[in-house]
Amino acid sequence: MTVSTSQRIFNFSAGPAVLPLPALQEAQRDLVCYPGAGASVMEMSHRGKVIDGIIKETEARLRRILGIPENYHVLFLQGGASLQFSMVPMNFLGTGGADYLELGAWSKKAMSEARKVGQVQVAWSGKAEGFKRMPGDADFKVRPEASYLHMTSNETIEGIQFHHDPDSQGLPLVCDASSDFLCRPLDISRYAMIYAGAQKNVGPAGVTLVVMSDEFYSKALEDELRPTMLGYKVHVDNKSLYNTAPVFSIYMVGLVLKWVEEEMGGLSGIHAHNQKKAALLYQAIDQSNGYYRGHAEVASRSLMNVTWRLPSEDLEKQFVQEAQARGLDGLKGHRSVGGIRASIYNAFPYEGVEALVSFMEEFRRKNG
Ligand SMILES: *Cc1c(COP(=O)(O)O)cnc(C)c1O
Repeated sequence: MTVSTSQRIFNFSAGPAVLPLPALQEAQRDLVCYPGAGASVMEMSHRGKVIDGIIKETEARLRRILGIPENYHVLFLQGGASLQFSMVPMNFLGTGGADYLELGAWSKKAMSEARKVGQVQVAWSGKAEGFKRMPGDADFKVRPEASYLHMTSNETIEGIQFHHDPDSQGLPLVCDASSDFLCRPLDISRYAMIYAGAQKNVGPAGVTLVVMSDEFYSKALEDELRPTMLGYKVHVDNKSLYNTAPVFSIYMVGLVLKWVEEEMGGLSGIHAHNQKKAALLYQAIDQSNGYYRGHAEVASRSLMNVTWRLPSEDLEKQFVQEAQARGLDGLKGHRSVGGIRASIYNAFPYEGVEALVSFMEEFRRKNG
């Protein structure tokens, strides 16, 4: 039985989210039997030659696409970005404590996990302003004795994003990039560590990508009592194969990276595609005579998650329902913020944004 691709909706889900059709189709074609292997990727040992080749190729592609320097480790871990919220402080926070930028719901979660480990200093908070913007470099000051500065490059729930690499003022910069990893070119050398749950922009749930400089890695604290799996050392030493790796998720990440590299023109091509989609949607908000009100300040608008309000909650409810009936799915804003959220990650097609924008115009005409 094959399911027609024409049955696929425009999927605005915040995560797990839309994947590139060519990646899904290649996985479907090879699902039962990976070429030359006689078995499915799901059925083979993570220590065998085939899977080893898939993992190595996926890492090589990621290094190529992002231009990851050789002195950086690449890890495929489990536990999501949420486990990194704990692993980062457990391995690095130490007596100096760590500085955090409080930018939205996800950085708040990262901070509260770090507080269970040790001292956390809030270098800057957007809370009083309702998390509508990212700070500029002059807005915050770090403590020189802190072990690292933690940031979230894109706050998925509020829909705000950095459009520059923040100046960490000499501290190692640790970045949760779960919802905008690979959305544009990135200067990895500015970061000590970047981590991202795969399920927003890079693949299915089940694998978390970690890119870490060897210099930062070498500062990891020894802790005999810490569970082995919660240290980075065991994963670096065993090249992410200490225990059974999430092989199918890594394989899917590899197929998504192949699409980025071979069909989208790498990160600059992806960036142009994302800018074009976001521009069209923000324009529809801006040209609605105040009917649609964007949450983010213009300079911090996210390319990935576009958030806005309607004149009333009843209209928002109606908007989401009518959109869904048209095959525009997953537009309900996060319960903590309300309103509408359109997640338009890398794999989301331009035509889907066009369909949304024309629905928005029609809805406003009927309900304005
Ligand atoms: C989704 C998300 C997370 C949580 O990821 P999990 O993989 O579910 O733990 C963390 N940070 C950001 C920015 C996210 O968007």
